[in-house]
Amino acid sequence: MASVELRAIRKCYGAAEIVPSIDLAVADAEFVALVGPSGCGKSTLLRMIAGLEEITSGDLFIGGEKVNRLNPNERDIAMVFQNYALYPHMSVFDNIAFNLQLAGRPKAEIKERVGEAARMLDLTTLLDRRPHQLSGGQRQRVAMGRAIVRKPAVFLFDEPLSNLDAKLRVQMRAEIKELHQKVRTTSIYVTHDQIEAMTLADRVVVLNKGKIEQQGTPLELYTRPGNTFVAGFIGSPAMNFLDAEIANSDSGPVVRLQGGAALPLPLPGAGNLRPGSRIILGLRPEHLETGAEGRVPGRVRLVEPTGAQTHVVLDLGGSTVMAIVDGERRIAAGDRVSLSITPERMHIFERSSGIRLN
Ligand code: ADP
Ligand code: MG
Repeated sequence: MASVELRAIRKCYGAAEIVPSIDLAVADAEFVALVGPSGCGKSTLLRMIAGLEEITSGDLFIGGEKVNRLNPNERDIAMVFQNYALYPHMSVFDNIAFNLQLAGRPKAEIKERVGEAARMLDLTTLLDRRPHQLSGGQRQRVAMGRAIVRKPAVFLFDEPLSNLDAKLRVQMRAEIKELHQKVRTTSIYVTHDQIEAMTLADRVVVLNKGKIEQQGTPLELYTRPGNTFVAGFIGSPAMNFLDAEIANSDSGPVVRLQGGAALPLPLPGAGNLRPGSRIILGLRPEHLETGAEGRVPGRVRLVEPTGAQTHVVLDLGGSTVMAIVDGERRIAAGDRVSLSITPERMHIFERSSGIRLN
């Protein structure tokens, strides 16, 4: 196993600078997810770590050794792709064994390692099949088997679950997590899906346009997003954003919404918030309470039941917000509600920069 370190890693394609400069340290045995919208440079970054893409400038270390100039097969990594990349004419056994055979490992050792991986991935009875005789999830497991048998120092995953249907994705996600708990191989996992990143990783790194916006544990990013990009990206359904202003009232400074309603300021942190500041107020749908004695009047526009919970789209003095209520609550379009929110659960961002203020 090994640590991975990126120092001022930069990538250009011709004149286009895709990754300006990334610093990132992944500890031995850690599971880090790189998450960000499509086109933000995730695959480019992972392919540079794998050695499949040239590094324009900067240094890459694996296990403390600088590997910029090493070929992929000299880097002690294994990569799992979205499109599995299995050999259609080979059996499951040969697909898993391929790299070991290529490396000229002894037959007995190959058999043992493939057998072990197959047991771990529940593929033991499928070793004679060809890829076209497998389901999508089984094919994905074969691709993982091929990575596991090499016992690499680092696993690199590039959206490995994107081709699976929703139910299988959830199942495979759990299998990848269990696998990591068993083998503890340092893992870097790229995805555009924030739920996948949050559920799998020890640490989540949010990327935007080739830059790190924020990194932290899943709950750190959820509870204290550092800017509106991260706030809007982490959490589902997404955080509501409302234009507002800090204003004075008889009881001290408040957040004044555009409709005129006022909310008490969260403490601590209110010190940064000067009356007159133009802000964006971030409110998570799951933190909005729609009882009778709230401070902000709203009107229900749309009700979307999902079972355990119901998503409620509300008009709030000209703005639209989403709230989540218990699935058994009776609520209908046209209902009048009154919103309240615990001050500690308000996220306050500077309007001009999007940076968190509280
Ligand atoms: P992601 O994996 O986050 O969706 P990519 O790393 O694949 O994003 O791509 C990042 C950016 O780099 C995109 O704008 C893409 O068009 C560009 N890009 C990727 N590969 C190449 C290439 N070989 N030549 C030129 N531009 C590329
Ligand atoms: Mg990609």
